[in-house]
Formats: sequence, C-alpha cells, structure tokens
Amino acid sequence: MATKNVHVKIDEMKTSTGLIKNLEVSIGKIVDDSWAEPMGPTPMPSMSTLRDWDMKLLNKYKPFYMPDCDLCCLCTFGKCDLTAGKRGACGLDIGAQSSRIVLLACCIGAATHTAHSRHMIHHLVEKYGRRFPLDIGGLNIKVEAPITRLVTGIRPQNLGDLEDVLDYAEREITQCLAVAHTGQEGNNLDFESKSFHVGMIDHVGMEVGDIAQVSTLGMPKAEPEAPLVSLGIGSVDTTKPVIMCIGHNVIPSVGIIDYAKDNKLDDKIEIVGLCCTAHDITRYYNRGRIIGPISWQLRFIRGGFADVVVLDEQCVRTDAFDEARKVHAPVIAASEKNCMGFKNRTDDDTDTIVADLVSGKVAGVLILDPEKVGEVAVRVAQQVAPIRKKLKNLPSLEELVKDAKTCRQCDMCRRSCPQDLKLPQAIKAAAGGDISQLTELYEYCIGCGRCEQACPQNLMIHSMIVKAGEKFMLEETNFCRVGRGAVQDVEIRNVGSPIVLGEIPGIVAVVGCSNYPHGGKDVYDICREFALRRYIVALSGCSAMSAGSYKNSEGKTLYEEFPGEFTAGGVLNVGSCVANSHIAGAAIKVANIFAKRSLRGNYEEIADYIHNRLGAVGLAWGAYSQKAAAIAAGFWRLGIPVLVGPHGSKYRRMLLGREDKPENWNVIDARTGNTVNVGPAPEHLFQTVETPQEAMVAIAKLCIRPNDTWKGRSIKLSHYVDLHKRHYGCMPNDLHLFVRTMADVPMTLKDEFTKILEANKWKETVIPDPTLLPRMVRKMKE
Ligand code: SF4
Ligand code: SF4
Ligand code: SF4
Repeated sequence: MATKNVHVKIDEMKTSTGLIKNLEVSIGKIVDDSWAEPMGPTPMPSMSTLRDWDMKLLNKYKPFYMPDCDLCCLCTFGKCDLTAGKRGACGLDIGAQSSRIVLLACCIGAATHTAHSRHMIHHLVEKYGRRFPLDIGGLNIKVEAPITRLVTGIRPQNLGDLEDVLDYAEREITQCLAVAHTGQEGNNLDFESKSFHVGMIDHVGMEVGDIAQVSTLGMPKAEPEAPLVSLGIGSVDTTKPVIMCIGHNVIPSVGIIDYAKDNKLDDKIEIVGLCCTAHDITRYYNRGRIIGPISWQLRFIRGGFADVVVLDEQCVRTDAFDEARKVHAPVIAASEKNCMGFKNRTDDDTDTIVADLVSGKVAGVLILDPEKVGEVAVRVAQQVAPIRKKLKNLPSLEELVKDAKTCRQCDMCRRSCPQDLKLPQAIKAAAGGDISQLTELYEYCIGCGRCEQACPQNLMIHSMIVKAGEKFMLEETNFCRVGRGAVQDVEIRNVGSPIVLGEIPGIVAVVGCSNYPHGGKDVYDICREFALRRYIVALSGCSAMSAGSYKNSEGKTLYEEFPGEFTAGGVLNVGSCVANSHIAGAAIKVANIFAKRSLRGNYEEIADYIHNRLGAVGLAWGAYSQKAAAIAAGFWRLGIPVLVGPHGSKYRRMLLGREDKPENWNVIDARTGNTVNVGPAPEHLFQTVETPQEAMVAIAKLCIRPNDTWKGRSIKLSHYVDLHKRHYGCMPNDLHLFVRTMADVPMTLKDEFTKILEANKWKETVIPDPTLLPRMVRKMKE
C-alpha cells in the first residue's frame, strides 16, 4: 500500500558535483503496490460514486418518515413550518428535512468513531511507529481489513497505512456533513444515499481503530475461545481501591493498567470499566472487570464503588462529574473531547496533581497524557480508598421510606420516564415500608435520571430504586466472553457454503446500546432463541454485556452455554463498538473467501452479493446514539436489514419494502439475464419492532434471501412459521410470497402450506442466480 511522507534530511554530503548542506527532501506518497488483486471500479468512492446502488435499494425500500417535529430550526431563516406539504424558506420539504436529520445523525456517529480511531492511531504511531505491522489473527487471517480493502482499495499492512485510510474517511465525513448545510441537497433520496455513504465510512473508521488496537495492544486475535471475564459489580473486590473507567477509548485505561502492573500493584487494585472501554480493558488485561453497559453509569457512580472515576469519550454522562462529586470520588477526564470544565493539568507535576485530588482541593482534573492518567489514577485511588470506604453513599432504608412519604403522587416522574415505569405506585408502597415494587423496577430502569429532574419534591428516585435493588446489584456476578476481534478466514471457509445456500439459517448481529424497553433480558432471550436454532449470533458493545448478564436453568450464561465460534449455534462477542466492524467484515469475507469475489474497490458487487445471498440481520434492541445510526447505515448500504426496538422509532424514519408491490421484488438471473420475481426477500431494510417476540419473528423472516436453495429456504421457512405460530398463535399470511417451488415447503408443514398456496393462487417460479447489477449477467438474453 502507499508509503506516505518519506522525509530525508542530509546535514552534509560530498558528491562529485560538490558539497551539499542541509538538504531536505519530502516525498508525499510512494505507491507500494504489492497487492496482486486488480483494482475494482470504485476505490475510495466519493459520496456520489455508489449513488446508483443506493437508489436500487431505496427504490425497493422506500423511506417512511414519522417526524417527531415538523418544524425546522436549523438556520435563522426559520423556524419554518413544514406541515401538510409546506416548504421552508429555503424550499426544503418535510421529507428532505427528515432525511437531513438522519444524515446529520450518521455524520455525527461516523465522525465519532473515526475521530476515536484517529486519536488512538496517532497515539499508537507515536509509541510504536508507522511501520509497526498489523496482525489481527496471525496465520488465521489473510484478509486483515475487509471493509477497508473493499471501500478504499487499500490493503493496510502497518499502522501508518491506517493513517492514510483515515485521511480518506475524514474527507468523506466532511463532505457529507457539508450536505446538511442550508441550500445544498433538497431531495430526500439523495440525503438518504449520503447517509448510506457516511455509514459505510463509519465502518471503515471503526475497522481501522480496532485492527490498530488489536495489533499493538495484545488483544485477542480472532480467538473463538477468548477467555470468559467476570461481569457485574459482584465480581469486584470493593475492599480494594477501585478505578472505574467510563467510555470507549481504552488508551487512558491502558496507561492505568500499565502503571499498576509496572509497580506490581495489579493484585492490590481493581480496574473496572463501563461501556466499551470495559470490553477493551478486558481484551488488554486479564484482571480487568466489566461492570456493565452504558446505562448503568448513574447506578454505579451513585453506588459509590469507585474511588476514582476516569472518563474518556463517547456516551459518558455529561453530569458524571457532579454525580461523582456527590460520592466524593475524584474524577480524571482523559479525553480532549470531554474536558468537563476541568483545568488542564497535563503538564503539571504528578505529585501535585495527586495531592490536590486526594486532599479535595480539586475534585477533577483534565489530563491528556495517558501515562500520567495511569499514575495519577492509581496513586489517588490508593490514597482515597481508605477514607471513601467508610462513607455511605446510597440512602439507608429508613431514609428511603422517609423520603417516599414526601411524595405528592403528582405522576410527573412517570410521565417523564422513557420506560413508563410505575414510579408513583412504587414510591407510595415504599412510603408504607414496602420496597418490593421499587426493587422490581431495578431491572427495567435505564438510569437516565429524568424522573428526578421532573420531581417537584426533588426526590432522588433513581437512588431509591438502586437502594431497593442493592442486594441484587451486589450479588450480580455473570460472565462475558472477552471480545475476540475478527472472524478467522478458516471459520468463513467452513460456514460460507451453508450460509449462502441457506442451510445455516442466518447471522443475527445483536449490537448497540442498552436503553432497552424492558431490561437486558430481552437481548438474552433473543440471542438464546437463535443460538438454539443454530443461527450464528454475533454481539458487540453493551448488547454483548447484556447477553452475558443472565443464566439458563443450569446456571450458565450464554457464553458458557454456546461456543464462541463463527458457526451454527455459536455466540460470539467481537468486542467494543469499533469491533462491530468485524461483523460486517465477516459478511464481506464470505463473498471474498468463500465466493472468491474480488474485494479491492469493488463495493457494489460485494454489496449485491451480500444483499441477495447472505441471510444476515442486525438487531439494535436498545440503539440510542448517533453512532448506532451510523452503524445501521453502514449495514443498509451492504443491503443488510436492521431492526430496532421501540426506542429506535425515535430515529423518525424506516426503510420499508412493500410486499403488495411485486414489481419491487424483481432481480436479474445472472445465468440467463431474465428478470425473476423473488418476493420480498428481505422484506425491509430498516424496521422498528415493539416486542422481543415481534423481533424474533421479524429476524427469522428477514434472513430469507433470493439465493436460498430449496433446502435452505425450507429451513428458514420452518423457523419463521414456528416462531410466528408460537408468538402470534397462527400461520403467517404471506408464505405464498416466499415459496418458489414445492421443494421450498417444509415437509412437516406441507398440508398447511398447500392450503395457503392454493388460496393465494400461487404459481411456481425459478430459483435464480440473483443480482441487481446487469453487468453481473454472464449470458445476456438473446
Ligand atoms: S434550513 Fe430551511 S427549512 Fe430549515 S430553518 Fe432554515 S430555511 Fe427553514
Ligand atoms: S432513571 Fe429510571 S425510573 Fe427514572 S426516568 Fe429514567 S428510566 Fe425511568
Ligand atoms: S414526581 Fe416526585 S412527587 Fe411526583 S409522583 Fe413522582 S416521586 Fe412523587
């Protein structure tokens, strides 16, 4: 790949022509093109390069907008009323405005991942040098960066190459962000196409970040059986000093761990994490602990377990400092993206910073040097722990009951609760001495704190819930599998054929955040259901933690019950948010390694392959952030459907197929050039579902693909029918759309299918070699 910025400096050199002094030569880029794969048609695409592909998808899956707000306030012409077909002062209509908001969310998400990767790689290059080789799986991985290869045409070989990839990603994010300016794009489909583009770039940004940290920090390298790690506060020895790291960028945590290890303190101190930093801590350090997903920040800060709180970036509560101060825990902000208003003490003497934090002279500091963060965090934790362990943080039961008696039953808390929890009733019961209803809410509360903001009596409602659930919280000890990183090439080879033929019914990628409608158990239930059905279940981020937080009847977590391999019935944790990229990467590798399709700059062909052949579905049950929007958009461009839970409806738009419009479901048979109607497979590209049961039925249906063999289709239909019958109590009414020949019909359901097919005047059709790209036709029609 490209070697960048060769810089030669010669102080003095004698040559035949004379004496040369102070010669400096800089060469911007030398192309080291040792990758034999020919370059495809779209290396480093701009935002319009893949527009035709996007429009194929968007014509099939039309955007459906449900704007929360039909005003636009984005410029000072406004605010403009966009109701009932009206246009704003710039000419924009509500469709374009809704899609513009989606684009903005995706740009923020992609910028966040890419900036995270840029920061990390900048640090790693400083530490290890640009020539540090990438290694994410030794001999088990030849395709080290499938997304990067596919999108950019670059095969990165060392850290420096990743900087070049980020140059491209940053350029594209800036271009897409510019589109949201007043008076640029006006067409909603073009906004959507740009969202797809920036989503694709987001996946590039994530991939380079994860392969950089896996290569340099000794994280598991594509290990199916990566070790199990304790999960939950019950697994932490809170008699020791506890450092709690919150966020997504592991570099400051690495500084803490290294300092503890170098000073032989690692068995005397607990280093724990919340959210993705937790995953990456445990990928780096076998004594690290995962406390839980992002929504538990308030719970654990208020619980007072942490003697020092270290904040890096992304999804950190912006009031984390105020909350930590209430429990007298010093705070170190370690990212310039999240300075918390603290004085920058990066260049100050370490002893002075430690003394200031221990004495309480300052409650928080900003330190942008990860090694200094490490020393300060460990020394402060050691010194404040003996004092802090004597403090009481949550209210006592007596205080809880006393506070509950001041409740006016005004219902404001419930009305502001995104979970619609029955708070007034629980508080009324608590006032009478019965806290059991509050205890029940512990599982369902997502720790947003909105109830407290709404309460006219200033009741610390979330703390009351945490107190009521304290016993459960302290006993919580589960297991998560340490993030394994990428999927090995050999795993892809082993499952490529059964996946593409439909015999492994699908890949279910459960990703995203933890603002679940009814607690994390739904995630566990969905994952277990599909693992038992021998789908491949891939997890990352907070979802991977939630999946490990529950046990089966034998007391085993999902990670103990199922193997960590990318295989039928496997349950994989790929790792933190940036490791999400390995899920899309695995889909891309199926096309490359199994089907031998060229990757290099060949996006459209690979996406066409995945869309028509690979039964993959993403589920973001608790998606809430802009990063989740960007991740979803990256999947959409690959033609992979994404489901979101009820809170996901607040993204304000869906991408829905119309099963009643057969003309939308035509593909080209690459063998003959004939047009073949393949039915709504997959039916939607982005869909909201309300319940886990609805999600399960939708997942099974969305795994259906035009390329399924009759055997594969029959397996997929069996799962769809079975789940539909179980959760809706009847046969689906759309089965005739998915049966191509009678061989597709599951043997045991033949009679029931036959009735449905006859009632719908079903006609047999052919099983094509499906493509949406005319250029993929091998023999053109005469
Ligand atoms: S961007 Fe357009 S629609 Fe929005 S406020 Fe400005 S003029 Fe009105
Ligand atoms: S903190 Fe919990 S109870 Fe309070 S509003 Fe948020 S989800 Fe509801
Ligand atoms: S908002 Fe406060 S006072 Fe009102 S019902 Fe809820 S807890 Fe009681």
